[in-house]
Parts: sequence; structure tokens; C-alpha cells
Amino acid sequence: MENEYLSTKKILIVEDDISSRLYLNKILEKTGASLLSACDGKEAIEAAKANPDIDIILMDIQLPLIDGYGAAKVIREFRKNVIIIAQTAYSLLGDREKIIASGFDDYVVKPIFPQQLIEKLTKFSRKI
Ligand SMILES: [Mg+2]
Repeated sequence: MENEYLSTKKILIVEDDISSRLYLNKILEKTGASLLSACDGKEAIEAAKANPDIDIILMDIQLPLIDGYGAAKVIREFRKNVIIIAQTAYSLLGDREKIIASGFDDYVVKPIFPQQLIEKLTKFSRKI
């Protein structure tokens, strides 16, 4: 369903697992947001540099080349105001402090449920 807050936003999906990436794309394309994707932390940093109009980054933690923590830290240096949401496995939930310290605004726990994800992104979108 088109979402009045998300339909004007540009979202970068960072996920190395192809089926998860397609799943997230499928959920978010219904909101009307414009979507970009990256498969690893290095690509995420490059995409954030090349697209200064990205509003929200949905970042997997376990990624090849540069992990989600490292990528978030680098992106935060040149994009102070972008919303960065981590997607993390339940087993890594103890890393909440590390997630916040790395510059993430919030996190979602995998498996990701469509309604929860959209509600969380909408909450942040209302502020920007
Ligand atoms: Mg991963």
C-alpha cells in the first residue's frame, strides 16, 4: 500500500543474501519509495556517496568486504542526517550497544515482518 511518508523517500537496501534483498524490495516497493540496493559494505558506502539524496539506509550487519558496523561508521562521517537502520539476526541482539555506537539510529530483528518494518521506517520518515 502506498505510504504518504515513504512514497517521497529514497531508500538504500544493503543485503548480501539475494533472496532477502528481493524480499525487502518487494515489501518496500509497495510504499512507493524509490529503492536502491547494495550487496556489501563497500558498495553501500559507494552508493551513499553517489546518491546524496538517500533518506534511509536499511543495513544488514553481516556483510562481505566491510560489515554493517564499519559501513555505517564511514557513511555517518559524510552523511550526518541520513537515517540508518540495522537489520540484525536475533543471535546478535546483545550487540545493541555496538549498533548504536556505530551510528545506527535503530535496528530491526530478522526475520523481518513487513508491517513492523514499514511502521518503523514510517516513524523515522515523519521526522524528515
Ligand atoms: Mg548478511
